[in-house]
Amino acid sequence: MTKVVHKFGGSSLSSAARYQAVAQIVLGQCLAGDCVVVSAAGKTTNTLVKLWQSYKQDDNQGFSDILLQLENHQSELIAALFVGHNRSDLLAQLDNELQTITEQAKHGVLHEATLLAHGELWSARVLAYLLTQLGFAAQHVDARQLFTLHNGQLLHQQNKQACKELLQANALFVVTGFIASDVEHQTVTLGRNGSDYSATLLANYLDADAVSIWTDTQGVFSTDPRKVASAIKYPKVCRSQAHLLARLGNPVLHAKTLSPLKNTKIKLQVRSSFDVEASPTEIVKEGYSKAKRFITTFEDLDLIRVDALRQGEVGELSQLIQHSIHHFIAQGECYILVPAAHTHEVLQALSGRANIVESALQGFAVVAAPSDVAQLQVQATQLLNEQNVVVRFLHSDDEYVLFLTDQAIDSDVLAILHDKLVNKGRELAVIIAGLGNVGEVFVAQCQRQVAHLKQQFDVKVVALVRSGKMLFSASGIAIDTWKQQWQNEAVDYANSELIERIGELDYEHKVVIDITASEAFSHLYPQFIKQDCHLISANKYAGTADNTWYQNLREQLTERNLFWRYNTSVGAGLPINFALADLQHSGDKITQIDGVFSGTLSWLCSSFDGSTAFSELVVQAQAMGYTEPDPREDLSGRDMQRKLLILARDIGLTLDLEDIALQPLMPEDMAQGSWDEFLTRREQLDAFYAEQYQQAKAQNQVLRYTGSLSIDEQGKVSAKVGIAFVAKDSAIAHLTPGDNIFVIKSIWYESNPLVLQGPGAGKEVTAAGIHSDLYWLTQRLK
Ligand code: ADP
Ligand code: ASP
Ligand code: MG
Repeated sequence: MTKVVHKFGGSSLSSAARYQAVAQIVLGQCLAGDCVVVSAAGKTTNTLVKLWQSYKQDDNQGFSDILLQLENHQSELIAALFVGHNRSDLLAQLDNELQTITEQAKHGVLHEATLLAHGELWSARVLAYLLTQLGFAAQHVDARQLFTLHNGQLLHQQNKQACKELLQANALFVVTGFIASDVEHQTVTLGRNGSDYSATLLANYLDADAVSIWTDTQGVFSTDPRKVASAIKYPKVCRSQAHLLARLGNPVLHAKTLSPLKNTKIKLQVRSSFDVEASPTEIVKEGYSKAKRFITTFEDLDLIRVDALRQGEVGELSQLIQHSIHHFIAQGECYILVPAAHTHEVLQALSGRANIVESALQGFAVVAAPSDVAQLQVQATQLLNEQNVVVRFLHSDDEYVLFLTDQAIDSDVLAILHDKLVNKGRELAVIIAGLGNVGEVFVAQCQRQVAHLKQQFDVKVVALVRSGKMLFSASGIAIDTWKQQWQNEAVDYANSELIERIGELDYEHKVVIDITASEAFSHLYPQFIKQDCHLISANKYAGTADNTWYQNLREQLTERNLFWRYNTSVGAGLPINFALADLQHSGDKITQIDGVFSGTLSWLCSSFDGSTAFSELVVQAQAMGYTEPDPREDLSGRDMQRKLLILARDIGLTLDLEDIALQPLMPEDMAQGSWDEFLTRREQLDAFYAEQYQQAKAQNQVLRYTGSLSIDEQGKVSAKVGIAFVAKDSAIAHLTPGDNIFVIKSIWYESNPLVLQGPGAGKEVTAAGIHSDLYWLTQRLK
């Protein structure tokens, strides 16, 4: 049976609601035999550190204020989560512990690590009680019984034994992170953020298969996603880079997290307790992922030069101050970077062997593939210059370059650095679904277009997908020979396999391009989004799905910072989406959109002059590939109704298909039955059309099939598609057969509307329109 250790950080346990959410995750994901490791709830450890400081400074008032704050926080959590005797039991235990702390403080015997341990003891107990209350019997375990250290070294054999003995029952154990004990049974900690390390240690001792680190971000990003919205989530990060980030003090993983996984097959992933379905970041062994780029920031550090640093001394010092300490050698000298608040302690411990080189430093490090570091150093130096950020110390190593500055690297500067250093010249994996008329031309056009984009983006077509069959190659398909490769290598697939393969792609960015006409395929969009894929659709179904589903899809995209383009779903390659967006962004207000948005209906109406029967034209159009496979899709007006809905949503209206009145271009009852049956009744269609045609003529007008949307001054919307009689001298009447036309009225284009006209169908222009979306995406990702 797979055994998994799940670790929930403080950020996942920051409120009663978050405890509930974590409990639900455990109920959904854990089996008896798995283990859960928890950190202290929210910022409890920080508060306990403050409590310790007020104790050391004999600040009695401060001490009791902070203790009260802790008491309130814990008792509020308990009150919100429990009733009856669970509640009273937990409150009584808490009360007892707080009294002991007060007593010990009074007698001057408070012990730092024992005090800090309360954070984890409380959270493990509360979560175990909560799970039990929800029907999943869980036991809380004090890790001081499991992890023993001697002179700062873990006693692995003894610990393994203890874990196997104490955690052998087929139950769910909730183990405290962060804390351990020494051989004298005194509490020690594993250092700030140490619960990650507790989790991997436990996994090692229990021979577990995997560790999941659940936190408040969806994984490991190129930089802190809380500071830079365009931070890239990486699907895979190799262990050495994760370790380096941790050594540089990045909080997403603790510095020692990876050491227990060395020489084991234990899998490690970082995932979000706020979004269980989001794809995680996997921390993989060397060689299983390409080197990625990261920027990690520093605050309030002192740079200290040390004479003759002993082996293991950095570890001891970080144990002493409970913080990771980054160290490096430059020009033969040893340096350490210490949080300013702990410099005094560190200097004391190094008694005379160390001196401060620079103090009160801020800054950042850029982590990258060794071949990129030198160039990134030059670029970063220039950017800092432009931003007037003074560099006080610079150090570069094989895999990173470190800038220590005067000024804090705020979100704005970080965003600029990230945009220019990380998010440039990166890779984009393209998944193309639908290899019909347009799809084939799109793939053919890819060859030139991929070369064109190459200066900025390395675009690789990794998958070609047809209903039931796909060709997938994570390293990229050779576009010029794809047909041959398809013959030899395309395989049958199920949707779940497609999603899984996409999830495994090790690219910074991924895009699914949907050139199918399949409603079922559009239903997969939420799953693509969960795999962090951008979307480009020529397919109209998602854009016209019911509003709740559609809005939900948009929210998911926004949440993950993903883009969705669907330029060609209306008017093929015509830039109607650009025109509408531009007017709105420039402060205009659109009041009306009229036009012909169907190449098929445009061709049919403009070609009809009474000399050829209408049904004959339909058959001709079908033969020329102008229509949907069943031309009634076009004649029903449904296709134009969908397009009008897409336009309506583009200008911010929340309509549904039913809100757009629909009048078909055929007798209603002809919609039923097969296409062949339809043809046997074609005179009925001809009579219907001829009559409409004559009526228009009698009024000195021409027959067209149009869509119309208007918004009155009160904001009331009316929308319809159907047969229209238009003036002979209007732009719509003069439409070239097959062209689309959009007539837009707005505040600025009131009496003389803005008109956009041109081919609204055709495989070349449609495929080119999809390339326009792809280009737009690469510009956005730059
Ligand atoms: P936990 O309480 O779950 O241990 P931490 O607060 O210790 O969580 O670490 C997660 C935080 O790390 C995130 O909220 C995020 O702000 C920060 N962070 C900094 N750099 C990164 C990064 N590159 N990727 C993901 N998160 C990052
Ligand atoms: N609670 C401890 C801390 O805040 C350990 C951890 O969160 O991993 O540092
Ligand atoms: Mg942490």
